[in-house]
Amino acid sequence: MVDRSTVSFWVIDENERIRYVNRAGAELTGYAVDELLGAPFSMLMPTELAGNHARWVGTYAKRGGPSGILGQVREFQLRHRDGELIDIELKAFPLDATENGRKLFGGLISDNRDRKALEAKLRARAAHDPLTGCLNRGGFFPLARRALAYAATHDQPLGLLLMDVDHFKRVNDRHGHQVGDEVLKWLVELIAGALRDEDLLGRYGGEEFVVLLPDTEAVRVAEVADRVRRAIAGHALSIGRIEVPITVSVGCATLRPDDNIDTLLSRADDKLYLAKKAGRNCVVDERGTAVPREA
Ligand code: GH3
Ligand code: MG
Ligand code: MG
Repeated sequence: MVDRSTVSFWVIDENERIRYVNRAGAELTGYAVDELLGAPFSMLMPTELAGNHARWVGTYAKRGGPSGILGQVREFQLRHRDGELIDIELKAFPLDATENGRKLFGGLISDNRDRKALEAKLRARAAHDPLTGCLNRGGFFPLARRALAYAATHDQPLGLLLMDVDHFKRVNDRHGHQVGDEVLKWLVELIAGALRDEDLLGRYGGEEFVVLLPDTEAVRVAEVADRVRRAIAGHALSIGRIEVPITVSVGCATLRPDDNIDTLLSRADDKLYLAKKAGRNCVVDERGTAVPREA
């Protein structure tokens, strides 16, 4: 039964030599059962763990006591014969048996790749806005906090833009929500296209977007903001026969020594309010000055 099980069963001895493996175990690793029997288990382990495995097993066999591995279900990786690292789940336990006087340990190993892939997919989905594909708040904030911490410790400048579509309600009222949704998707593409790979773009609210600009001086922050504003104002979006002219207003902020993401956002929001007051289709910089629009 064990031999034919789809779960892989392993027995190693206190020298970490493989004493038993079923077919599923051999299949998982790409080796034949005969190649595995007698081999050190560490040959199947990732390099960073392999070097210590014999010592860990040996020490436990001699002294017993608490173990971070035995009796628990742990996630690891196994090295397949072709070199690929496979995500696995391992439950290992001491066996009440010896072979030639050597203590034996058992392990159940299952293939964890599908679950890991699904988890990664769900994590990515949870961090992104389904409509536009950019980061949502939950995805943006942790990355933004990390970027702020990095900027603070490396004494780097950092900029933040808060952007709000002008009179977006009118777009919805005139053309319907579906067109409104198309506008948002188009906007994200345009904004993302104007940014660098290391910049972060998040959907902050309905038609509000936030951009974090690592390693960017105050002057450059306002320049980037105005470049994005111009890119949007310069293209009327065509959806079928409908032409939808879109503009955005942008508030800028740059990192100060005692800032956190909330204080930074709050300053950018104040500037966004000024940009709306100044007539929209407008960028207001860190100091509260509207960036002049060339004719
Ligand atoms: P202002 O220039 O002052 O920003 O005017 P506004 O009309 O953009 O401002 P307001 O905040 O009153 O309206 C925002 C609108 O955005 C209202 C809401 O229906 C719309 N909206 C928010 N999220 C979505 C969305 O996902 N899809 C669509 N189509 N509309 C959205
Ligand atoms: Mg708004
Ligand atoms: Mg708006």
